[in-house]
Amino acid sequence: MKISYSPYTLIPLAPLNAVSTGTSRQGALLKIEEGEGLIGYADLHPWVELGDVSLPEQLECLQAGRSTELIEQSISLAHRDAQLRCQKKSIYDEGEPVRNNFLISDLNLLQPALLSEIKHQGFATVKLKVGRDLVRESEALRVLVSADLKIRLDFNATVRADTVTAFLKSLPEEVLHKIEYIEDPCVFEEQAWRSLQSFAKIAVDNQYDQVPWEKLKSPPFDVIVIKPAKMNVDKAMARCLKWNLHAAVTSYMDHPVGVMHALGVAMELKKRHGSLMLDSGCWTHHLYQENIFSQHMSLQGPFILKVQGTGVGFDELLGALPWHQIKMS
Ligand code: MG
Repeated sequence: MKISYSPYTLIPLAPLNAVSTGTSRQGALLKIEEGEGLIGYADLHPWVELGDVSLPEQLECLQAGRSTELIEQSISLAHRDAQLRCQKKSIYDEGEPVRNNFLISDLNLLQPALLSEIKHQGFATVKLKVGRDLVRESEALRVLVSADLKIRLDFNATVRADTVTAFLKSLPEEVLHKIEYIEDPCVFEEQAWRSLQSFAKIAVDNQYDQVPWEKLKSPPFDVIVIKPAKMNVDKAMARCLKWNLHAAVTSYMDHPVGVMHALGVAMELKKRHGSLMLDSGCWTHHLYQENIFSQHMSLQGPFILKVQGTGVGFDELLGALPWHQIKMS
């Protein structure tokens, strides 16, 4: 198998979450070539802030034949893409349409006019990245509650358990009622998470690897957030089925190629598991300045429309990129 990469930069329009600073983000697209014309693409977009090793180190690992969670997933998704491309199929042939949540990373955007527009477009859930300014976030939630939308909160485990508890206690009952789930409320700790379940459903995302899966009698959360960019999807789904949990697939706030891969997985899981799957969180490329890839993407309400081409799409753009082959040592 031949592996090549093509580096890119994404420029956020505003800080993306409680751990990011809003500076430009580096990633690389990967191309794998196997046998007779079998070519597949995927994204490799490390979040050092969330514990991934940096892009140069990821590329070094690739070269040395070592793997990381991101490399493993990226290559597995590139294989999937190659199979689809070879059969002239798109990810849209493999699954059912999935609705996405509306992600708000900048509270300044949270105005009543925007909320009624979101609702009008057909979105059912809004996701807020919280944990940076709890006073303002609490005010924002009071604005949000007037709209008939479910709310997802994501603390990215940046706040202490007692602070999250005090925050949730301070929220009016009607706000708590609208919360679909709270993602990574604090660093994973079984008792703390279990007691937070009395306020709302809890979802595990970036704390997934902190969960002692083998020892758990029953998980202190209700939803697994599946990120195909760094998580073995079959294993995560097996855990959902074992514990009767729901799942939501999200992008890794990465390149449009990564976004379309996450969407492809979400659509396939929706077809296989139906109502176990909650709305996805794949519509994230609008958080960055437009690039030639995102220009080829469009939304119809909460649905991401098909990108022209096979596999995850973008055939011509991917074909025209400069690729650097990795010389395996
Ligand atoms: Mg998250």
